[in-house]
Amino acid sequence: MKLNLEKRRALVFGASSGIGFGIAKSLLAEGVQTAISARPGERLNKAASELVGAWAVGCDLSQAGQAAQTVEQVIRRWGGLDILVLNTGGPPKGTFEEITQEGWQTGFQSLWLSSVEAIRAALDGMKKNRLGRIIFLTSLAAKEPIPGLTVSNGIRAGLLGLVKSLNNDVAEFGITVNAIMPGFIDTDRLKELKIDSKEILSSIPARRLGSTQDVGNLAAFLASDAASYVSGQSIACDGGRQRGY
Ligand code: NAD
Repeated sequence: MKLNLEKRRALVFGASSGIGFGIAKSLLAEGVQTAISARPGERLNKAASELVGAWAVGCDLSQAGQAAQTVEQVIRRWGGLDILVLNTGGPPKGTFEEITQEGWQTGFQSLWLSSVEAIRAALDGMKKNRLGRIIFLTSLAAKEPIPGLTVSNGIRAGLLGLVKSLNNDVAEFGITVNAIMPGFIDTDRLKELKIDSKEILSSIPARRLGSTQDVGNLAAFLASDAASYVSGQSIACDGGRQRGY
């Protein structure tokens, strides 16, 4: 299947490593003009040098206003934005009693409010062009809470509702809204969580961790015209781990 993504313009948040990096790589391979964003610094510069053709834009998603500013910057430079990938680092870990008020606030700003801001900044242009692809990166935790990831479990379940609601409002303008729910993907974040990999593998029917390319492939498909009739969905990329419907 040809994805025909050449000349499309994308912004991928959280793209200096891991899943976001993998998505940017897949989009670039399809000829998409791609901006990568993460907190400014060495890691973002390194990603930009590895992702040939990408434009790096610094942005801290835990700070109110920065997501919208980043979208506006991309639109100013390229005259529009067709593909918006909403991704960032995992929020603070802990049980309910361990999470501080500040932890909730950072998590909510990074995962939820920054996404809302970015979408607000991108939506008018997408509606005018009658073309848009909004792709959230959430987690299997949206459907099946993972012990010790209270903030992630709560906020990502809420994002399932946001995907459905936004889809209701914008699908008639040629804009699709979907979420990818990664299972266990081989990234730094997974190492940081120190989850027993033997136990994980035995729970995954495919008996392997996912790669960032697995997620990148799905994102590229969702970004393409071939997926123009797929919207309002949260799709697992997890080697079959999610057993529920
Ligand atoms: P990662 O830590 O490898 O990458 C996170 C990216 O977000 C990096 O580019 C980082 O620089 C950027 N980032 C972090 N904080 C930021 C901030 N405040 N502002 C801007 N950019 C910021 O993580 P990953 O494994 O690629 O995971 C990405 C997302 O997917 C996370 O939210 C994670 O919880 C979720 N997820 C990961 C897995 C997995 O198995 N790896 C599974 C399910 C969900």
